[in-house]
Amino acid sequence: MTRRLAYTWLARPRAGLVAVGVTVGLLSCARNPVTGKSELSLVSESQEIQMGQQASKEVAQSIGLYNDAKVQAYVANLGKRMAANSERPKLPWEFHVVDDAAVNAFALPGGFIYVTRGLMASINNEAELATVLGHEIGHVTYRHSVQQISKAQLAQLGLGIGSILSADIARFGQLASTGLSILFLKYGRDAENQADQAGFRYALDQNYDVREMTDVFETLNRVSQAGGGGKLPEWLSTHPNPENRIERIESILDTLQRDPNRGVVDREEYLQYVRGMTYGLDPRQGYFEGARFYHPQMKFQMTFPEGWQVQNTAQAVAGMSPNQDAIIQLALAGQASPTQAAQQFLSQQGVQAGQGSTASINGLPAASSYFQAQTEQGTIQGIVSFISYGGVTFGLMGYTPAGKLGSYDQIFQGTIRSFSELRDPSKLNVSPARIELVKLNRQMTLEQFNSQYPSSISLEELAIINEVEEPATPLPAGHMVKRVVGGIRQPGS
Ligand SMILES: [Zn+2]
Repeated sequence: MTRRLAYTWLARPRAGLVAVGVTVGLLSCARNPVTGKSELSLVSESQEIQMGQQASKEVAQSIGLYNDAKVQAYVANLGKRMAANSERPKLPWEFHVVDDAAVNAFALPGGFIYVTRGLMASINNEAELATVLGHEIGHVTYRHSVQQISKAQLAQLGLGIGSILSADIARFGQLASTGLSILFLKYGRDAENQADQAGFRYALDQNYDVREMTDVFETLNRVSQAGGGGKLPEWLSTHPNPENRIERIESILDTLQRDPNRGVVDREEYLQYVRGMTYGLDPRQGYFEGARFYHPQMKFQMTFPEGWQVQNTAQAVAGMSPNQDAIIQLALAGQASPTQAAQQFLSQQGVQAGQGSTASINGLPAASSYFQAQTEQGTIQGIVSFISYGGVTFGLMGYTPAGKLGSYDQIFQGTIRSFSELRDPSKLNVSPARIELVKLNRQMTLEQFNSQYPSSISLEELAIINEVEEPATPLPAGHMVKRVVGGIRQPGS
């Protein structure tokens, strides 16, 4: 859960795009800025920009921007220089680093481009960053996202407005992306090809050594393998990764006119921006110790039932029962009072209120009620509580398929009542892991480096973020090496 989050409790995702979608009804024919071919589009350029602006606000609210003005300015300057030479120089281009540990980059319609701090920490020079930004700029100049959004809108018109509770249980495993799922559009192979080629052009225009792109993909592959169990970095899951991607990029590189040997790499300059950067999950935005959840920034704690599978995402904190038939979820519910928030929740279509109460919870103003709701998975029953604390209202909900509430009632109540103020200074003052740089004073291997300058991550992970293939390979004296210090051990991180 992030502090900036002002998420509507169980809101339909992507309210912004839906609102725009309603005003966009007529097919129009637009010329593709790069190919020059005319194509059917539901979205004019001004609508495209409007969508991007709306979605960019949601990105800032739900994911949050990384709090380092120097890093932001660095990425923005590089991106804008490249975009100014693209086929769509007049778009209101913006480039930001989002406060997300995942390795990802994405483009919104209209020229709003994001890289995660996780990606910044995983790459090693400016040329790599330039190829990533160039690739995302390419998706915008080719209007790939607009083509996708046109389809998404069509689908939306066909589906109509679904139940707000629909598929909530099924989506448990994908909580991280519920709010912003449409931002992370999957592009087709052709679109990826076009974006790669365009990205190379934009990076070459700035004289970067675009061969570094292969290192980016090697790093992504290694991150996904290290994650195990098919856990893909976000960028790979939204940017399909044919097995021959690296080969394909190399074949594109072969066709390029300019000699990339003389290109700029700028390793040391780039690494100066990564020095001190937050690495991995930021415990200040909430962390688990066993079943106990602490949120230092919002100063609350809560205890989930023992043995439940728990998850902390930007949108919500949630736990699922071992039998996978009950969920307890905590999210921000806005500024409304607990009573107002409860009324809003219970007046939704398909939701029936049961017995309610306005008894306080650990001294905090609260409104609670049993409820029953119709979902696509059938009828669910549960308890919902809204608690006012620290100037915002939290929504806590436990629910299970109808008929099972009897066996979960006490568990739901106990978990909801565990929500309380966090006062323990040792929990309030946790700090995240950070990247440090060390310039080697002599030749050594990464293994030797790691024993001389221990990191709070594994040697395997250290090798990935330093783009060192084999930890036993000697690194030359004077080489700048990243290490990760501090932080706390987090399960599943
Ligand atoms: Zn892509």
